[in-house]
Amino acid sequence: SKSIRKLVLGNWKLHGTLSANGSLLSAVREGVANSAITASCDVGVCVPFPYLAQAESALTGSDLAWGAQDVSAHASGAYTGEVSATMLRDFGSRYVLVGHSERRMYHAESDQLVADKAKIALDAGLIPVVCIGESLAEREADQTLSIVERQLAPVLALGSDVVRRLVIAYEPVWAIGTGKTASPEQAQDVHAAIRKLLGEDGASVRLLYGGSVKGANAASLFAMADIDGGLIGGAALNAEEFLRIAEAG
Ligand code: PEP
Repeated sequence: SKSIRKLVLGNWKLHGTLSANGSLLSAVREGVANSAITASCDVGVCVPFPYLAQAESALTGSDLAWGAQDVSAHASGAYTGEVSATMLRDFGSRYVLVGHSERRMYHAESDQLVADKAKIALDAGLIPVVCIGESLAEREADQTLSIVERQLAPVLALGSDVVRRLVIAYEPVWAIGTGKTASPEQAQDVHAAIRKLLGEDGASVRLLYGGSVKGANAASLFAMADIDGGLIGGAALNAEEFLRIAEAG
């Protein structure tokens, strides 16, 4: 919505090296510092766990935030391989993605698990970015709204106090990494429906669009009434392209 500050978040996925990240982080930091982007838009990057310390040292004191791409639903304990919300906070994380479609698909994350992750992240002082969206088969079967409603149900059950502090990313699975972006109208329709599902709590919730956002299509998407920014995969790995997208925010 026009009254909501925009947010553009990069999702690096399983990409990066210390050396490549060093260049990318400093180029994005410089670009943001030398622009008017942060007058209207928050910007951040969600990096692989091992690079959180690098992001923290490269971005501390800048206008950029950082965070992770997943979080454990457990606070601590015998959960080998997991990373907790308080660990993410220890490295200065502001955001964490929960329920990205790649986690739902390849790691069988359920709607309830995603809600549990959102809750533990919030309790630790992180801003969870709850990712939802339908597959191509679901869209073609006219199930888009019932899918996002189902995905959000356990999140909404957490109550107003939680819902008001979330970020939600609508990412149609058919648009992620495919080069096929939802049209601004297609995305807006779903965003408006999501806003409605959130009721009164939704008025100030940031609803991001994700799925093949690029410098060339960002402005037309972000101009829509209920699109409050973007979650950016592939294009976030290129500083120039990512900055172009943030300029549209
Ligand atoms: C994503 O991973 O959240 C995403 C939107 O990817 P891409 O921009 O590459 O489609």
